[in-house]
Amino acid sequence: MPSPELRAALESARIPVPFRLETYLEEVERIRDRRLHTHDLPIEATSVVSGLWIATRKADHIFVAPGAVGVLRINIVLHEVSHMLLNHGKVGDVEEVLSRLMRPAVGAIGAVAARTRYEAREEREAEALATLILMRANEWPSEGDHGLRIIEQTFGYGGRYPV
Ligand SMILES: [Zn+2]
Repeated sequence: MPSPELRAALESARIPVPFRLETYLEEVERIRDRRLHTHDLPIEATSVVSGLWIATRKADHIFVAPGAVGVLRINIVLHEVSHMLLNHGKVGDVEEVLSRLMRPAVGAIGAVAARTRYEAREEREAEALATLILMRANEWPSEGDHGLRIIEQTFGYGGRYPV
C-alpha cells in the first residue's frame, strides 16, 4: 500500500481519462496556481540527468532530455511532477542553478548540484508516485472514485474502457 503522503499527492491532481500528459500538466498548474513550462534540457547536461525540475518564484520549469520521446518522456516528466506534488526541494538558490545550467560551459556542474538537492528517500518517493500516476492513467479508478466514474461516463469516455 502506498503511504498516506503518496496517496494524498496522487489524489491532489486529477488524472485525465483517457490520459493526456498536457491535460495533466494543466491540472498541476491549476492546483499549484503557478505556470508550468517544459523545456529541452541543455545538451551539456544530458550526460548527467534526464530530467530536472526548477522552481522559480513565479513558475515551475521542467527540463527533459531532448532525445526522450513517447513513454520515456512521460516517465521523466511525471517523475519531476512527483517531486512537485510531494513538496520536495526548496525554492531558494534555484535561480542561480538555472542560470548556471543555461551557461553551456558549466551546464553539467549545475545539473549535478540540482540533482543532489534531493535525498535518496525523496528519489524513491518520486519514482513510486510517478509509477502510481501511470498505473492510474491506465486503468479505471478502482475504489472511492464513483463520482469521477460517473463524470467520465457522462462525457463519453466510458465506452472505450472495460467496466
Ligand atoms: Zn528525482
